[in-house]
Parts: sequence; structure tokens; C-alpha cells
Amino acid sequence: METQILKPDENSLFAAKKIIEEGGLVAFPTETVYGLGANAFDGDAVKKIYEVKGRPQDNPLIVHVHKDYDISRIVCDIPDYALKLAKKFQPGPLTIVLKSRGTVSPIVSCGLDTIGIRVPSHPDAQKFLKAVELPIAAPSANVSKHVSPVTAQHVYADLNGKIPLILDGGKCSGGIESTVLDCTGEIPCVLRSGLVTREMIAEVAGDCGVFIPKKGEKVRSPGMKYKHYSPNCRTMLFPYEEREKALEEYERQRAEGVNAWIMCENSVAREFGTDKILALGENGEEFAANLYDKLREGEKVAELIIAVAPKEQGGVMAGVMNRLTKACGGQG
Ligand code: AMP
Ligand code: MG
Repeated sequence: METQILKPDENSLFAAKKIIEEGGLVAFPTETVYGLGANAFDGDAVKKIYEVKGRPQDNPLIVHVHKDYDISRIVCDIPDYALKLAKKFQPGPLTIVLKSRGTVSPIVSCGLDTIGIRVPSHPDAQKFLKAVELPIAAPSANVSKHVSPVTAQHVYADLNGKIPLILDGGKCSGGIESTVLDCTGEIPCVLRSGLVTREMIAEVAGDCGVFIPKKGEKVRSPGMKYKHYSPNCRTMLFPYEEREKALEEYERQRAEGVNAWIMCENSVAREFGTDKILALGENGEEFAANLYDKLREGEKVAELIIAVAPKEQGGVMAGVMNRLTKACGGQG
């Protein structure tokens, strides 16, 4: 299969609509990462997503809709706090998990009785969702466990020959996946951290929990148990407080002839003064925007990425830390 990369316009959106209606897959940009979409009502189309990505069969997909879509067609029992959160943060990088009405294919939610709903704010995502006028099940448009794609070229590198069309909306601005929020309980509960932080949610909903799986406990967001976001090279991760050890390791590896690079925040890069640096920025938003691009750059130039965790750990950095820990092989 030939994979076309097209800018979203009348012709390419018409082609995208046709592919989706015929049960095919289309990759499209969002403000977080690129998504790999299929008609959420069509179980056979949704199955293709799992096949193309090599995604584990028990990791549910998020359903994407345009901003005027009536979500009561696919979910029910929506609590008041969820309506408030939707009003405040959608369109935007927040996925709200609600009780399924049973209309969407059960393959989307892997047998769970809930569905994660997201309304992406990226104008090209809105155009695509309006053109198809269907709920679109979509995970990130990468091979499972690899670094998520933030450009059309990243999608092409992973899925060339496996899907017919990539809509090219340029580089994603957000950089890490949406916050996944369980809205089926008394209060909302963060299942996966992201750009909409627990603090921002609590301000609107009055309260907000964070799900931290205990050893042996069933995970509530199945995707969180897998190794993820990993570059195709060796990685190490050091806490900020142990950054001196990261530098020592870098020097030791280099002395042994290993092509090691450091990944860290700008201030640590200045402190180290080494030349093989993948700098992530100054704050949480910059880290999020740069992380996947730098991991993909890193796997091209380095044999070993030695990452130093950020100094700050709250707000957006909670999401960044979650991805960095998983990417660099830690416990997540
Ligand atoms: P991805 O599409 O690769 O960004 O992954 C989607 C994430 O959302 C995974 O961590 C899933 O486990 C989570 N997710 C999707 N749907 C649900 C749901 N109905 N309940 C809980 N988590 C979900
Ligand atoms: Mg993903």
C-alpha cells in the first residue's frame, strides 16, 4: 500500500472521509500527538488499528469527536462536574472517561463499559472530524511502544506502507498525550497525566484524585502498564539530585567508545557544558513540546541516551516525568 502525505484541504479531506467510510485508517494531527483514526462504530476498521500498530488487545482506544458532536449518542450518565470540565477544557488535551451507551464497537474499549472522549483543538483535527461526521477511535499513530509521533514524518517513519493517508498539519504544539480522566465516580480521577493538570481539574471540579496503581492491583487505564514511548537505543534515567552521576556515566561511556548523549533541561545542559546534548527546554510546557522530537532525534544520533529528570515535578512535569520514566525503561 502506498502511503500519501497530504495537507488537509477540500480534496484530501474528501479522500480521508472516503477511506474512513470504507473501513480504512487515516493518520491526523492533533494538538498533542498524531492520531491513527478509524470509524468507532465499525469493529473491523477498529481491529485494523491494533494490527497496524501491534497494539496489545487489552489497551482501549480514545474516541475523538468534533466540538459540536452530541456525545450523548455514545456515552450516558454524565455527571455535572464532567460537563463543567468539558466546557472548560474541551476542545483541548483532556480525555473524559464516561459510561458507554453501547453504540460504539466494543473493540474500542476492549470490553470495558466506559469510553474515553476527546475533542481535539487542532484546527485540522476539527476539520477532519467534521468532514467524516463520525466518532473516530484513535491511539497515537506510531508502532506500539515506540516514541509517539509529533510530525507527519514521524508517522511515515513508523507506518509507511501500512496506511493509505497521513494528513499533514505540521508539528504538534502540545507534545505529550492527553490527560485521561475517569469521570464515572463521585469525583474525577486522573488515570494518565498530561497537559491539563490535576491542579487545573481540581480548580473546576472542586476535587480531583490521581490513580496510582498499587502492586498487584488491577490497572484502571490498561495502557499504563506497558513499556511505552521508547526510542530504539539504550537509555538510562537519573534523578535530578543525582545529575553528577549522569555526567560521570556519560564520561565513562564516552571513554569506552560508546556514543552517549545527555538528555536534560537547559540549565543542566549549561551546568554540564558537554557537547552531545538533547536539551528539553526551561519549563514543563517546553519539555512536553520537545520530548518526543528529542527522543526520536536521540535514537538517530546516539547509541545511549542518558536522561536527567527535571527539577520540578508538579503540574505539567508530572505528565512529562511519566513519559520520560517509561521511555527510559523505568517503572512508570
Ligand atoms: P493512546 O491512544 O496510545 O494515547 O492510549 C490511550 C490511553 O487511554 C491508554 O492509556 C488507555 O488505557 C486509556 N484509555 C482509553 N480508553 C479508556 C477507558 N475507557 N478507560 C480507561 N482508560 C482508557
Ligand atoms: Mg500511544
